Amino acid sequence: MSETLTADVAIIGGGIHGCSTALHLRRRGASVVLLESGLCGAQASGVNFGGVRQQGRHLDELPLARRSRALWGRMKELIDHDGEFVQSGHLRLACSDAEMAVLEDWAKGAREFGLNSELLGRNAIRDRYPWLGERVIGGSLLAEDGHANPRVVSPLFARAARKAGADIRENTKAVGGVRDGAGFVVEAEGGLKLRSRVLVNTAGAWARDVAAWFGEIVDEEPRSPNMNVTEPLPFFLNANAALMGEGDGVYMRQVERGNVVFGGAGRGTPDRIRRRTRAVMEVSARAGRAIAMSVPALRHARVIRTWGGIEGYMPDEVPIIGPSRTTPGLIHSFGYSGHGFQLGPGCGAIVAELALDGRTDTPIGHFSIDRFA
Ligand SMILES: Cc1cc2nc3c(=O)[nH]c(=O)nc-3n(C[C@H](O)[C@H](O)[C@H](O)COP(=O)(O)OP(=O)(O)OC[C@H]3O[C@@H](n4cnc5c(N)ncnc54)[C@H](O)[C@@H]3O)c2cc1C
Repeated sequence: MSETLTADVAIIGGGIHGCSTALHLRRRGASVVLLESGLCGAQASGVNFGGVRQQGRHLDELPLARRSRALWGRMKELIDHDGEFVQSGHLRLACSDAEMAVLEDWAKGAREFGLNSELLGRNAIRDRYPWLGERVIGGSLLAEDGHANPRVVSPLFARAARKAGADIRENTKAVGGVRDGAGFVVEAEGGLKLRSRVLVNTAGAWARDVAAWFGEIVDEEPRSPNMNVTEPLPFFLNANAALMGEGDGVYMRQVERGNVVFGGAGRGTPDRIRRRTRAVMEVSARAGRAIAMSVPALRHARVIRTWGGIEGYMPDEVPIIGPSRTTPGLIHSFGYSGHGFQLGPGCGAIVAELALDGRTDTPIGHFSIDRFA
């Protein structure tokens, strides 16, 4: 049966970015309909590593990450749940002088954005983190970083948006859209039609399809970070830690119940069409070897599960955030390139400002789609 809905803003994609945008829009009183092909938070937003990390980001991302970090500290107020957010600190670990120099450079740049990471030499880092192996020669700690549970956080953004009055349609895939007079008409499976003044594209690794409806061809590539988790171990990892180098970098965190989640050292296999991913055993083994060498207590830990998730990567590995190049009223927010979970709360607020005010005070020029023109 066909149904036509009308809203100020239509959103395609119910990951953390779409749901956070919907929530912020509702908090400002706009009417919102969000279409989600499957279940909200079931793709990258619900299966990621859970790192809430500012450290190591492209410096242009720091104003966004800062804005988001402020909201992570107020999760209870935003989504009526703490999201299991823990301010554990984030350690970037160097195994060579060259890696240490990269950390020093980043620390200098980040200071201009009000972020003070603490550089630790060989002795200082081992005093504070006795679980580190001999090959680590130093590192950098950003104490205000941490981690959260993506399986909880992302669906809860959807629940909070719905409670605030957003009309969220799950299992409803948008199949086409056009600009029509003063606004947009989006068609979804099942005969649903949606009219809106503004259209927001938060379709994650599928966002390039939505952009293509409006003649915008973007080089967004699906990739799958490779994830693993160990059996529960006595708690000892009192900071999230990431090794530089080691293929794609290897990272780990320990949750309160004892399991160590780790990833990196390569990728799994994403299937964008069937919306499925598989972890790759060789990659898991490589990541396991790298962390066991740097954290000897993990040498005999048993891995109980591996998984992946489909994420959209841009060629320069930073997202597209801002107005479309071809179509007034269309706003993109996608291509988060493996680090968009932390940015979800803040970018939702930014996109809501773009939708309602046509501007934001947070600098987003670097993320314009124009850079690929
Ligand atoms: C394994 C893994 C580990 C990661 N680790 C971290 C980390 O530690 N820290 C960090 O900050 N980031 C991390 N990331 C990245 C982060 O998860 C993503 O950047 C972020 O979740 C992207 O959110 P999103 O809302 O843009 O996309 P998604 O969560 O993919 O949501 C997009 C949604 O759009 C829907 N959709 C697509 N097309 C349509 C359509 N036509 N109609 C309706 N709905 C549609 C999809 O079904 C999907 O639910 C990781 C990612 C992965 C995969």
